[in-house]
Amino acid sequence: MAEETIFSKIIRKEIPADIVYQDDLITAFRDINPRAPSHILIIPNKLIPTVNDIETEDEVTMGRMFTVARKLAKEEGIDKDGYRLIMNCNVHSGQEIYHIHMHLVGGHFLGPMLIG
Ligand code: AMP
Repeated sequence: MAEETIFSKIIRKEIPADIVYQDDLITAFRDINPRAPSHILIIPNKLIPTVNDIETEDEVTMGRMFTVARKLAKEEGIDKDGYRLIMNCNVHSGQEIYHIHMHLVGGHFLGPMLIG
């Protein structure tokens, strides 16, 4: 059984977060340390530590992450100019929180994606 992170407490509203969306599968909230004018984390309510732990049964949830991203990008007014969706996996990516999350970042020109 994977160990819970602070994100499970955010999902259950046991600690404060700026939640912008929640349904039966997904919670989305503003990153506490935004790296762009819009920086939202979209996470499954189910604890999945890394992308490596995604199961076939999670496919609907993974799809929902993208439809929520699309909806929030529109609400943030960044859909037309564009935005970036990022998921880090394990140490080499710099993953800090072991509960998978999609970063939705946008609101200004992001430049080329830097790898490393
Ligand atoms: P990653 O490096 O991909 O694991 O990203 C983790 C992200 O979670 C970072 O961008 C942090 O700023 C963000 N973060 C950590 N704790 C919180 C929190 N309590 N509320 C919102 N965002 C958080």
